[in-house]
Amino acid sequence: MGKATGFLEYPRVDAGHRPVRERIKDYDEFLLTQATPALQTQGARCMDCGVPYCHAGFVVEGLSIGCPLCNLVPEINDLVYHGEYEEAYARLSKTHPFPEFTSRVCPALCEGSCTLGEHEPPVTIKEIERFVMDEMMRRGKIRPRIPKLRSGKRVAVVGSGPSGLSCADLLNQLGNSVTVFERSDRPGGLLMYGIPNMKLSKSLVLGRAKLLEEEGVQFMLSTEVGKDYPVLTLMKEFDAIVLCAGATQERLIDVPGKELGGVVTAVRFLTSATKDLLGGTADGDRPVAKGKNVIVVGGGDTGTDCVATSIRQGAKSVTQLEIMPCPPAERAPGNPWPLWPKIQKTDYGQQEAIALFGADPREYLTTVKEIVGNGAGRVTGVKTVQVEWQSQNGRMIPKEIPGSEKLRPAGLVLTAMGFTGPEKTLIGQLNLKTDPRGNVFTEPDSHKSSLLTVFAAGDMRRGPSLVVWAILEGRRAAKGCHEYLSAR
Ligand SMILES: Cc1cc2nc3c(=O)[nH]c(=O)nc-3n(C[C@H](O)[C@H](O)[C@H](O)COP(=O)(O)OP(=O)(O)OC[C@H]3O[C@@H](n4cnc5c(N)ncnc54)[C@H](O)[C@@H]3O)c2cc1C
Ligand code: SF4
Repeated sequence: MGKATGFLEYPRVDAGHRPVRERIKDYDEFLLTQATPALQTQGARCMDCGVPYCHAGFVVEGLSIGCPLCNLVPEINDLVYHGEYEEAYARLSKTHPFPEFTSRVCPALCEGSCTLGEHEPPVTIKEIERFVMDEMMRRGKIRPRIPKLRSGKRVAVVGSGPSGLSCADLLNQLGNSVTVFERSDRPGGLLMYGIPNMKLSKSLVLGRAKLLEEEGVQFMLSTEVGKDYPVLTLMKEFDAIVLCAGATQERLIDVPGKELGGVVTAVRFLTSATKDLLGGTADGDRPVAKGKNVIVVGGGDTGTDCVATSIRQGAKSVTQLEIMPCPPAERAPGNPWPLWPKIQKTDYGQQEAIALFGADPREYLTTVKEIVGNGAGRVTGVKTVQVEWQSQNGRMIPKEIPGSEKLRPAGLVLTAMGFTGPEKTLIGQLNLKTDPRGNVFTEPDSHKSSLLTVFAAGDMRRGPSLVVWAILEGRRAAKGCHEYLSAR
């Protein structure tokens, strides 16, 4: 334990974010870093309690308790407090292959279950993770680990998001020869084209892919399996396949006017913004927020990324619509510790909108009834209505409040309404069994699908989720696949 009385002596201190007026001028990461002694003190706040749910890693009633990867959080905190950063990294890398990603984008499920969080702000677990990883990179300690033995087995991983990368990493470390097929021009899945650069620098994603390459993983970019590369060829050429192709089907808006120019899905908008930033092949009619009134449909994290990106592109105004009610400020009685707290948060995008436009961009219990155009195929506005949730046949449904209709000017409408599941092409070509939500069905531990040599992981198996879960899924599928190959 770091310091027996640390949690009594030291308050939580976060490094915080770059000032809003400064950070909205660029796409650089907005997170700041604390000086070393201050961060060590934060490690001293860990109580090393007898019930460390922070690294429990399970799900109750759909809500996570602790870190899904089961990071050895109390041990890492203690080692950081004592200045033993390399040992802290050794513990961290026992469970986690890519802390540089989660320590920036994870919602910190661990902190939601921290025992100190019952009566004080929790330990800054995520920031400590980032500190350890950044310090190791600064010291040049993140070097290629070349496997000493090769099994002679070849595995194809389809998709290079966090699940594909973590699966490829472990399979390779276990001695298999791994090729990752990715249809995009750059690796990383939603780490690359989804999560904006200000949250996760793309140099970190490219850096990790390069390291994997140096360790022996091969990447076939701009290659769509099932289209550019027939899946049956893949099955003949490789001893096993792991599908990590994500849940990439975005939920589309279904109101009159949905086909108008300027109505764009969130991932298309965010992808285009990142391609602009990195240089490359943004599509011809690329959606840009500059000078426009932007309406973001969807109050979740993807919507927040659209708000922040629109602000950086110079939007005239940004409004974020959410059909659900505003979450409570404190945990509700049915949402006790150590479950993940379902409370209202004001994230970086909303903070920026408040600073720039003087008000929180979110409007709750509001939905789109119609999108209106200029007669020449371009969007000019959005008709919205207020709703109230009513019980009907045991189900809660949104009912329009009469007289609440409002016409709002809009030059760009970004739909961030979530994802409906994986695409059907590969699943159909392989005739794979799916679960009731259309995700690839697998055995729970081995991640083996209904076909002997095909495994699945990440959002494609679990449904739309988080980076940390995708990384865990990739590792589990790698273990399942390796066990299968070893037994042949
Ligand atoms: C905008 C946005 C922001 C997000 N922000 C966060 C966040 O801050 N924190 C967090 O924890 N989670 C976040 N998420 C969720 C998180 O990104 C996903 O849960 C995670 O990336 C899923 O990983 P994955 O590897 O399963 O799939 P993906 O990351 O979706 O990767 C799948 C890859 O497979 C490729 N592919 C698909 N089909 C084929 C094919 N036939 N052949 C070859 N390649 C193919 C795709 O091009 C893609 O690169 C966010 C999601 C979005 C959309
Ligand atoms: S990966 Fe996420 S949940 Fe796990 S310790 Fe890091 S920040 Fe916490």
